[in-house]
Amino acid sequence: GSRIGIVGGGQLGRMLAMAAARLGYRSYIYAPEASGPAGDVTAGWTQGSYDDSVALADFAASVDVVTYEFENVPVAPLRMLSQRLHPNLAALEVAQDRLTEKDFVARLGLRPAPYRAVDDLAGLRAAIAELGAPAILKTRRFGYDGKGQARLQSADDAEAAWEAIGGRPAVLEGFIRFDREFSVIAVRGHDGGFATWDVPDNVHENGILATSTVPAGALIAAQAAEAIEMTRAVADALDYVGVLTVEYFATAAGPVFNEMAPRVHNSGHWTIEGAVTCQFENHVRAICGLPLGSTARAAPRVEMRNLIGTQADDWAAILADPTAHLHLYGKGDPRPGRKMGHVTRLLGE
Ligand code: ATP
Ligand code: MG
Ligand code: MG
Repeated sequence: GSRIGIVGGGQLGRMLAMAAARLGYRSYIYAPEASGPAGDVTAGWTQGSYDDSVALADFAASVDVVTYEFENVPVAPLRMLSQRLHPNLAALEVAQDRLTEKDFVARLGLRPAPYRAVDDLAGLRAAIAELGAPAILKTRRFGYDGKGQARLQSADDAEAAWEAIGGRPAVLEGFIRFDREFSVIAVRGHDGGFATWDVPDNVHENGILATSTVPAGALIAAQAAEAIEMTRAVADALDYVGVLTVEYFATAAGPVFNEMAPRVHNSGHWTIEGAVTCQFENHVRAICGLPLGSTARAAPRVEMRNLIGTQADDWAAILADPTAHLHLYGKGDPRPGRKMGHVTRLLGE
């Protein structure tokens, strides 16, 4: 088939559609908004609720394969498209609930941060008593860019933290004293073929990814092989097809699983110019049953920096820099914390 349906209409959908177009595919968006960053570069846009199984089924029937750029989609309406949905329903289900996800990876014998399910304030107090403080309370669903999270310095912060996340079902995580953060961006094909890109060293500011750099330094490099095997175990267990991203903390005890995303990922944007085949193209290749492309790095050093919110960027300097590739997502108004674009620089040794 040549028509790809993408659930979600943000910048990830935009960049997926741009890669799909190079391979001759047309992309169609299904999203609750009237328009979005993906709309500029796609062949069609269906506005519909993620809960509307009838509309979603109609959408799915109009395309050859369905994928998603956003994992917070109810799974029930997608159940009937399961034959044409990649990554599959199991992957979506696991990755959209932090508790399900942590239980899943713990069962695989991997190493998440210590965690407890929290359903109410009393449960939170009990969880703090077991895990200690500091700790981080995260809503089970819908969190991204550090939203839906509250940090606790001590048990005294329990009530404020519970209020801060809106009193929703949550997990409490023990605070990990990590040295660095990195991610494994992997792709798995229909035939089980598996590849990863170089693991980027990720720096977050205010809970939002700020930069991703490859190759990562020695500390991360020493843990990359183990993290890649952990990621492969996740992908194999889910019979996963497409790009899968897992975020890790590099700690003195080795890589600790933070979270996974069943999709292309911000920490993989460097691959657009920085790798032979980018994460978006390999996702398209995987879901369309094509052979995967080389994930080799295309320059000695690659740095991706997010353009966030209202920060003042020197456009002239970026555009004048021959190593820089500027990406703007076509979002109207810059709001604090909003990802407006990114810059990737290909550098020498
Ligand atoms: P994303 O936009 O990556 O989906 P998110 O909202 O799902 O973000 P997390 O990845 O859970 O958030 O956390 C955001 C950041 O907060 C992490 O990258 C890390 O810097 C910090 N953090 C999260 N959990 C912990 C922890 N258990 N211990 C220490 N730091 C943490
Ligand atoms: Mg997340
Ligand atoms: Mg994260």
